[in-house]
Amino acid sequence: MKYRDIKQLINQEIDKTKKLIEMYEEETKPVAPDCAIDILSRNEAMISKNIVITSLLQAKSKLSALEYLLSNVGTRDFGKCVRCRKEIPLGRILVRPESLLCVKCSQE
Ligand SMILES: [Zn+2]
Repeated sequence: MKYRDIKQLINQEIDKTKKLIEMYEEETKPVAPDCAIDILSRNEAMISKNIVITSLLQAKSKLSALEYLLSNVGTRDFGKCVRCRKEIPLGRILVRPESLLCVKCSQE
């Protein structure tokens, strides 16, 4: 695969992740307290908000990992497992850029 194609794939993933972040940020905006809401549904709202915040943080760390990855395309270290130096399939890198371990090492 050419470096140009790899970069394009990473850029696509960056765009997707940025859109996700925007969506999550929109959802975590503080809403005016509604007096009609009972305690139970307020708790539920809080729990689901926490889930969104967790997803938001994950998406943000994925974004910075992708940007780091993009700057590494073409270097010796690109796409190699940080532990055993084996090559990692690009598909796996794009899904989980924040943990640059091959399947074997990530299972240990
Ligand atoms: Zn490995």
